[in-house]
Amino acid sequence: MDFEFTPRARELRDRLGSFMDQHVYPNERVYDRQLAEAADPHALPPVMRELKEKARAEGLWNLFLSHGDWGAGLSNLEYAPLAEIAGRSLIGPEVFNCSAPDTGNMELLALFGTPQQQERWLVPLLDARIRSCFAMTEPEVASSDPRNLRTRITRDGDEYVVDGRKWYTSGILDPDCALIILMGVSDPDAPTYRQQSMLLIPRDTPGVTVLRDLPMFGYTDRLGHGEVLFEGVRVPAANLLGREGEGFALAQGRLGPGRMHYAMRAVGFAERALELMCRRVLAREAFGGPLADQGVIREWIARSRIEIEQLRLLVFKSAWLMDTVGNAAARMEVAAIKVAALEVAHRVVDRAVQAHGAAGVSDDTVLARLFSVTRALRIADGPDEVHLRTVARQELRRYTEEATA
Ligand SMILES: Cc1cc2nc3c(=O)[nH]c(=O)nc-3n(C[C@H](O)[C@H](O)[C@H](O)COP(=O)(O)OP(=O)(O)OC[C@H]3O[C@@H](n4cnc5c(N)ncnc54)[C@H](O)[C@@H]3O)c2cc1C
Repeated sequence: MDFEFTPRARELRDRLGSFMDQHVYPNERVYDRQLAEAADPHALPPVMRELKEKARAEGLWNLFLSHGDWGAGLSNLEYAPLAEIAGRSLIGPEVFNCSAPDTGNMELLALFGTPQQQERWLVPLLDARIRSCFAMTEPEVASSDPRNLRTRITRDGDEYVVDGRKWYTSGILDPDCALIILMGVSDPDAPTYRQQSMLLIPRDTPGVTVLRDLPMFGYTDRLGHGEVLFEGVRVPAANLLGREGEGFALAQGRLGPGRMHYAMRAVGFAERALELMCRRVLAREAFGGPLADQGVIREWIARSRIEIEQLRLLVFKSAWLMDTVGNAAARMEVAAIKVAALEVAHRVVDRAVQAHGAAGVSDDTVLARLFSVTRALRIADGPDEVHLRTVARQELRRYTEEATA
């Protein structure tokens, strides 16, 4: 394994770090205030638009996209430390046009879109002129198993018609959202993993109704998590992404790098929380000295540092494997880091909340928000148990193969 940063990655890392210090951290409060004062809780705060313009002008843009034709062309290993730095702020990834769910959607379009689809959707997404969402999960069925999906995609002449109900469609309430990538059942009689397809649906297509905005542990997210009804929604047949029956395979293509990105950002969440914890316990005194003198708090700090270092190495290893042997061969590691990353990040944030006392529960620091995000991400993008299943299956396979050899 070779985790040495390339000169390009090192240079980007320095510039990204400076940009965060100069422009992102100082504007977190401005972003929150503008959002709180806005009539629409989903509108883009003006400061985010300014930050995006600055980041783009400095070439800190679309760093996630490994396809050289469209994005920065970085390897996963080169991108990992950058995603970590951006992930230290909840507003960081969006500043660099590297935030979910658009990143996964742009990857899908770059990999599987036709030139016309790329021209219409990918180019404006890369320019951040529009945003997008991904509609897979359905309220009525256990969606961690995509074989359960019920939303129907029916061919009618040179159109497809969509009927169904989705929820937790993140990003659909953003006023800039112009594209829904929907996964539904196009052929219920096909073999199990060939029944689903993906469609590109313009957000303003008649028949698309957002029924409500779902909260995340009581928080209203700026992107919004919509419950969405699709009633007789018609799109041209040319809006199919890939071929009919390829939905499941495409979803794997989207979720692999997506999980890696979440894990990379989670290292950033954990580092931020640890930094806040250390600063707080050094500054606050109780029972005759700084909280930092208490053995239990030193143990939280030490364990947090150890767990973050372990996690980062696992992230680098997975990124390196994705670069060298491919996403499919790195499947076990990618599943493992999704679980490990959010467990570590949530545990470190939890300790930092505790060390802050009541302030940790308030909105005076980013910790309460990080607490809810790290918890929710153990469900979003596939719950931990599904990834654990993948890891265990790979592990057991060695022994079952041995037994049958
Ligand atoms: C904040 C947030 C944002 C999201 N954004 C999106 C989005 O943009 N687009 C989208 O389509 N979806 C989105 N989701 C939905 C998310 O991907 C699903 O919630 C997730 O895949 C689980 O599906 P489910 O909720 O139907 O849970 P279910 O499938 O009903 O599972 C419930 C629980 O059962 C357990 N379980 C499931 N399978 C197994 C197993 N094999 N072994 C043991 N236990 C198991 C797990 O603990 C799981 O949490 C989002 C969710 C959240 C919380």
